[in-house]
Amino acid sequence: MFASSPFPEILQHASLWLRVYALGLVMMAAGAALERRWPAAMLQSRAGQRFNVAYAGVYLAIVEALKPLTAAASIAIVNALGGGLVVLNSHGLGALASFVIVLLTIDVLEYAFHRLQHTWPVLWKLHSLHHSAVEFNITVTWRHHWIESLIRGCLLYPLVGVLFKVEPWIVASTSIVFMFGNYFAHMNLRVDLGRYITWVDNPQYHRLHHSNRTEHFDHNFTQLLPLWDHLFDTQWVPAKEEWPATGLDDGAQPRSLLEAFCWPLRVHAERRTELGGKAVPVLDKETK
Ligand SMILES: [Zn+2]
Ligand SMILES: [Zn+2]
Repeated sequence: MFASSPFPEILQHASLWLRVYALGLVMMAAGAALERRWPAAMLQSRAGQRFNVAYAGVYLAIVEALKPLTAAASIAIVNALGGGLVVLNSHGLGALASFVIVLLTIDVLEYAFHRLQHTWPVLWKLHSLHHSAVEFNITVTWRHHWIESLIRGCLLYPLVGVLFKVEPWIVASTSIVFMFGNYFAHMNLRVDLGRYITWVDNPQYHRLHHSNRTEHFDHNFTQLLPLWDHLFDTQWVPAKEEWPATGLDDGAQPRSLLEAFCWPLRVHAERRTELGGKAVPVLDKETK
């Protein structure tokens, strides 16, 4: 008996990658059109945007290729810890309540993970690729290191399966909200939400998280709801005209896709962070 061919499975993954990337290209093109009409910062280079778009293709391909591994890890974790502690309703208004519960849970888990990414040097080495974008725009949305997606898939998202027994379509619906929220938050768009600026993550609020100014470091971690920043005291409400420059404090950024792929291996400059008003190094060497 011959083993079944892996080609149908590879083709299925390739087709899924193509659809997700095509949707990403459409979203980025639509976002770029809005950014050109109402930019928060002028003079953004086409080369920088092309780099991010190309990197997004590579990143999404790796994420798709890793799916069998993350799925196996999720199943193993849920089985080991006993999945579905709380059974959530999937009908009528109960489904809406379940959607909100899952959305809030994932959002607070993402908030906690994001804080760890800025606190643990090994996670910062990965996450700093996202922050290395000097030009902040919608193409930065997928500029994450692929190992981060592995960590999320193997450790973060299985927690939702451990906590809840819930229909997959409810979890999938929340991922659509997070996807649109992520694209929106990374836009180079001068949108003024006024008194509603702390209701949902948005281009000005998240731009502050990407700021290259030390006083802004370690604020506005949320992925969707600024409520978490408010509750855990990491919120910086931007002033009306506060649209800071973005990037790492040493200005480092990858010059090729290979450098982005191997980003954690580079020699890192230190990140300065504000603790009690005093800038201190969080990595191992003396801050310049
Ligand atoms: Zn961050
Ligand atoms: Zn970001």
